Amino acid sequence: MKTIDDVDLQGKIILLRVDYNVSFADDGTIAQDMRITQSLPTIKLLLKNNNRLVLISHLGKPKGRDETLSLKPVCKRLQTYLPDFIVALVEDVYSFKKADIEKAKQTVFVLENIRFFAGEKKNDPAFAKELASLADIYVNDAFSVSHRKDASVVGVSALLPSYAGLLLKKEVTVIEDIVKNPDHPYIAIIGGAKISTKLALIDKLATITDHVLLGGGLANTVLKAKGYEIGKSLWENDEVETEVEKLLMHQKNTIVLPVDVVVADKDSGITTKPVNGLSPDDAIFDIGIDTRKHFQALISQAKTIVWNGPLGYFEKPEYKKGTDSIYEAIVANTHAASLLGGGDTITAIAGKPHHDRITHISTGGGAMLEFIEKGTLPGIEALA
Ligand code: ADP
Ligand code: MG
Repeated sequence: MKTIDDVDLQGKIILLRVDYNVSFADDGTIAQDMRITQSLPTIKLLLKNNNRLVLISHLGKPKGRDETLSLKPVCKRLQTYLPDFIVALVEDVYSFKKADIEKAKQTVFVLENIRFFAGEKKNDPAFAKELASLADIYVNDAFSVSHRKDASVVGVSALLPSYAGLLLKKEVTVIEDIVKNPDHPYIAIIGGAKISTKLALIDKLATITDHVLLGGGLANTVLKAKGYEIGKSLWENDEVETEVEKLLMHQKNTIVLPVDVVVADKDSGITTKPVNGLSPDDAIFDIGIDTRKHFQALISQAKTIVWNGPLGYFEKPEYKKGTDSIYEAIVANTHAASLLGGGDTITAIAGKPHHDRITHISTGGGAMLEFIEKGTLPGIEALA
């Protein structure tokens, strides 16, 4: 993997893949912009060397053009960090040409949400060619999407001289350092909404760690697979449940499940119940207090900690205790190497004290886990 600080890039037009898939607060403002600030070292280094930049990012999961997922607010925020430049949004990739970039002065271009274009997710060769025609060089600084075989991640990379940006390099170096020769006890905490997307990773983690603590929506399917009543809780489907049963069978010594959960019931409101005590009207939204204590005790003894995914529906204050308790346990353990990541996980911990006690906060959730599982990612391979 060649990085932008290994080569002398001067006066080039550079397509820079970043991940500005930020989350928004209810009032429509950017909830936290860590993904933008983390890209600034690469942007500033490239601009200092008189390169011209065309940034590419996605935002959310649009099906075609969708004004609510425009990168306009992101451009506005980026502008505040680059006062000496004009940050300009390019609405239509197809009518934008290299000559437009050459003409413009002191301008950083940002292509509109790349997932507005059908060719992106399909890695359509014609779309990749269209993107590549804009520039001389491609730089990937989006670790968090490097597990995706999208046009702006792997497609363009095959068509232009390609390099890793500083953030991608940092992510790869630090994560390798933490997980290559981990000190034990080694603990993974996996939460989030869906288990289907994380099943293979949980399986792999269960073979390399001492404990995998499961919580959040994804633990519901696991509790169901174990035969518990989960009422109206969010879960996936029968097929996934069968997969989970297999996982539980051969990883039963490593997987740690919640023993109690916070449930909401239309009659009795919010209560905490043991996992074997739910009624058909209950819906699980967080881990319970006994589970928090159990997970915290395991985390306090760990020497290596990996965390992805909120332990509950943390966006609602009444269901964020589980997620908060995991964060607090990790930062209280000052003798462990700790790695956490994921878009929603970062949102959940944003603004909390002691970020400096975390060894590394990764921009990637799925990407981080897949990198731990496989030791590489398609977007990194594409740079070789
Ligand atoms: P990350 O982005 O950090 O990788 P995910 O995208 O996998 O995390 O999952 C985060 C989402 O999961 C959050 O929106 C959170 O509200 C949701 N979630 C977690 N636990 C539950 C639950 N018990 N019920 C409903 N939603 C949940
Ligand atoms: Mg997410």
